[in-house]
Amino acid sequence: MQAALIRNYGTIALEEVEKPKIKDDEVLVKVRYASICGSDQHIFKGEFHPRTKLPLIPGHEFAGVIEAVGSHVEHFQPGDKVTVDPILWCGTCAACKAGHYPACIALKLIGIDLNGGFAQYVSAPVHTVFKVPSHISDEFAALIEILSIGFHASARAGIKEQDDILIMGAGKVGQAILHAAKTITKGSVILADILDERLAIATKAFPELITVNTTRTDPVAFIKSLTNNRGVDIAFEAVGHEVAVEGRMNPVRTCINAIKGGGTVCVLGLGDHPTEILMKELIWKEARIVSSRVSHGEFAKAIDALDRKIIHPESMITGILDLQEAQRGFELLESEPGKHLKILLKVPE
Ligand SMILES: [Zn+2]
Ligand SMILES: [Zn+2]
Repeated sequence: MQAALIRNYGTIALEEVEKPKIKDDEVLVKVRYASICGSDQHIFKGEFHPRTKLPLIPGHEFAGVIEAVGSHVEHFQPGDKVTVDPILWCGTCAACKAGHYPACIALKLIGIDLNGGFAQYVSAPVHTVFKVPSHISDEFAALIEILSIGFHASARAGIKEQDDILIMGAGKVGQAILHAAKTITKGSVILADILDERLAIATKAFPELITVNTTRTDPVAFIKSLTNNRGVDIAFEAVGHEVAVEGRMNPVRTCINAIKGGGTVCVLGLGDHPTEILMKELIWKEARIVSSRVSHGEFAKAIDALDRKIIHPESMITGILDLQEAQRGFELLESEPGKHLKILLKVPE
């Protein structure tokens, strides 16, 4: 089969490799579309080294149809349209025993720790496989994983129907949270970023969205004026790397200052450096900071939202390339971060 393979960081190329064999409890998925994630960009650049082992077929966001099923697999058959939750937890650590799978100490992801979906075929344990209704497009099916991240963050933060929300960061994760949150709250949603183009991608989907370019406007002062000094109920930090905007607090501290008394900050950004916060700003508000990692049962929620057409993520797809153009996809995401959000890779038949 053909697969896009990273042999050396910074390079990904199509190669002929052996088709994966399936175990009794696995299915073989013939991939139609895979989506390039921010984590894939980190992997590509070698920033997940030494966790990632080369050569690697990346891709943890993908969808396709079942090609074959193992002898113990029930309820799935060849031809079923599916996507795969890439998270493999150990089931035996303390977190797993408590049912807190995203905190598994041995958490592995298909496409990061083992070969993934930037290939014609990928094998997956049957418990990770979700059926996708046929009317959901193949392109949207490849977004279910990233949407599940948005639904998980929304659940971790405990969004309610009337909550006002700030999302710091209009990248892939920020916009996934936006789409998920808009299915829950009817309150104001404010999206902040340093790139006008990214904010424009979001307002294409949600014209009523309130956007803030933090290079021009102080988001905390803006939110205070917008909410009559009250602050938002929930603020999400989805920046993920150090962005120093002169005269502004860092994104986490911005979130703390933007929430109401008793509000919630939900952090998702995976920066490599400590983030400075002033504890009393948190304590005075008796506010909560919660974190959100991967997803936990939200694949079903994302599929249901697409099925009921209450979520329309077309604006998130900013490019579709053939799998053989994967290298170009990664380069575009790096060189044009304002223009590109999700680039899908179309896998050859
Ligand atoms: Zn991802
Ligand atoms: Zn575990």
